[in-house]
Amino acid sequence: MKIKGLLKQLHAIDRECCLLEKTAAILQWDQETNLPPEGVEERADQLALIEGLANERAADPKIGRLLAELGFDSADPSGSANPSGGEALPPVERDFCRALRRRYDRAAKLPPGFAADMARAGSLAQAAWVKARRKNDFAAFAPYLGTMVDFARTRAEYWGFTGGAVYDGLLDAHEPGIAAEEIARLFGPLRERLSALLGRIRDKTAAGPEAEGDRSFLNQPYDTERQARYSRDLMENLGFDLRRGRLDSSAHPFTTTLGFNDIRITTRYAENNILSAIFSTIHESGHAFYEMDISPDLRGTCLAEGVSMGIHESQSRLWENVFGRSRAFWEYQFPRLKAIFPEQLRQVSADAFYRAVNRVGPSLIRIEADELSYSLHIILRFELERRLFSGDLPVEDLPRAWRQSMKELLGIEPETDAEGVLQDVHWSMGSFGYFPSYALGNLYGLQFLKRLRQDLPDYEGDIARGSFTAIRQWLRENIYTWGRRLDPADLLFKVTGEKLSAAPFLEYIETKYTELYGL
Ligand code: ZN
Repeated sequence: MKIKGLLKQLHAIDRECCLLEKTAAILQWDQETNLPPEGVEERADQLALIEGLANERAADPKIGRLLAELGFDSADPSGSANPSGGEALPPVERDFCRALRRRYDRAAKLPPGFAADMARAGSLAQAAWVKARRKNDFAAFAPYLGTMVDFARTRAEYWGFTGGAVYDGLLDAHEPGIAAEEIARLFGPLRERLSALLGRIRDKTAAGPEAEGDRSFLNQPYDTERQARYSRDLMENLGFDLRRGRLDSSAHPFTTTLGFNDIRITTRYAENNILSAIFSTIHESGHAFYEMDISPDLRGTCLAEGVSMGIHESQSRLWENVFGRSRAFWEYQFPRLKAIFPEQLRQVSADAFYRAVNRVGPSLIRIEADELSYSLHIILRFELERRLFSGDLPVEDLPRAWRQSMKELLGIEPETDAEGVLQDVHWSMGSFGYFPSYALGNLYGLQFLKRLRQDLPDYEGDIARGSFTAIRQWLRENIYTWGRRLDPADLLFKVTGEKLSAAPFLEYIETKYTELYGL
């Protein structure tokens, strides 16, 4: 009876935290999609207030006391040592307490005002970054970046990651349980084999451009209203339930969960680039499916979220790249696209379109990178971040180190810092340790697919028929339904029986592009 009472109190606090977070997310979503330019200042005040309340609630000392009474204290976050606590709880409540303990420790270990100070410094740094990128002036941004590195380091130290482990603490915030050393072990073969494959493709296309196929049909205007019509048709075909979500447009596509039955995605329409909207829509739909298919039993609790950034990216990338850039996918989709753009695509076959959406070539900009070289952009950022936090690389030397790594990994060098070290927003916000999750997502995704293929041998036939029901059900039952109940490594092991590995991803990439480019 006592346990029930303690849990009830914890759930009540958690529910308020979740409601405050979702309320902040609505303000954020509105800012990205609808807010008139003059409204920015007031919106910043509104957001700061709600986020402050959410942080305050998440760090309420009462949470710590209640968790400790249930056997989940900081020294034993799993609650396993206390038979009257952890062991006596139903499994889902035990997972709830573990997740809450983690969130509480993260919030409560920071001194009062630290999170707000870091957020404020982040807003200033972000504004400085926008200006510096426009003027191609890294030196003007460097002091702000230095401040954010210091904030991130101090925060990791408060969390208990000191000395050589600081960067592990930053990684752990996005991918619980993973350390830099393990990522380096996974990225090693990725670095080597992807660079080599990219080099072989470059040699082949330099020898004869016909290896790439004709993409000139992409260089035409594609009416953005028709693009929006196609995007909606596409997401519905993939299984997006528009009664539980919506599609809007924003400068940078994203997915946000505003409630259990309110999951929104955005995409970006550009008249001169039809692929941008298509693949952003598929990518964000992948994120949305994850959120939509979390077990209803977890609704309104801190467990009703994706387990980590890496597992979340595994889903968006599985849908965008593995399904969305497959031959089977365009067998079904291309006639539908052609019906909306008959003039532009009159002379184009499904196969030509498939080849066009899989064109590989080294690019300077991460978000424009193809499926093959994308991970190389991430490896570059991981290696630089690691050096930044080991003290081996001063902030001022970043532009030089960036150019050198680009040359090593992709064989090209940016002429300006705007196209190099200044291209991403993440560092200005203090989001260090975030980038690796994009490439980890590629690895997780192909490990999951290996298992999916065993259970659904004809999944590609389904895709070619435009039917995603069985695939979605498999993903729901094996991955999505769990929400945050398992750690990433445990979820992966439960589904695949394997530890995190680069092998399935490399095999997939090498097979696909060897065939595509006739290597
Ligand atoms: Zn994503």
